[in-house]
Amino acid sequence: MKDVFCQIIEGSIPSSKVYEDDDVLAILDISQTTRGHTLVMPKKHCANFLDCDQDTMHKVFDVARRIGQAEISVLGAKGVNILTNVGEMAGQSVPHFHVHVIPRYALGEGGFQLTMKSQDTSGMNLPRLAMDIASAVKKD
Ligand SMILES: [Zn+2]
Repeated sequence: MKDVFCQIIEGSIPSSKVYEDDDVLAILDISQTTRGHTLVMPKKHCANFLDCDQDTMHKVFDVARRIGQAEISVLGAKGVNILTNVGEMAGQSVPHFHVHVIPRYALGEGGFQLTMKSQDTSGMNLPRLAMDIASAVKKD
């Protein structure tokens, strides 16, 4: 069973298209968390951002940038959140890489909230933590 975005890309499920080229499709998110909430995805299936090849990732984020610019200029958005979720734990609901472009008009509007609260780091060895991550970063 193909995921819903592959079905949208092949045209068997309708969508409100915002942008399309040979490699990338952007559609309005059905939830419209804020007015203009858009999803940008590669036409080639990959499961998520981390699973995606570099060329495809670059193309998707380039379109996301251009859609964010358009939303600011034509919708009057004051800013945009551009984010991608990797894995169900992070809120990814469709297993096909996609980037959310969420226009922001005013604090607390719509159904979108993003909160990053500081934690007590006194029990963490931050230099060690940084080294652990750094040692595993792949070189391209
Ligand atoms: Zn897919």
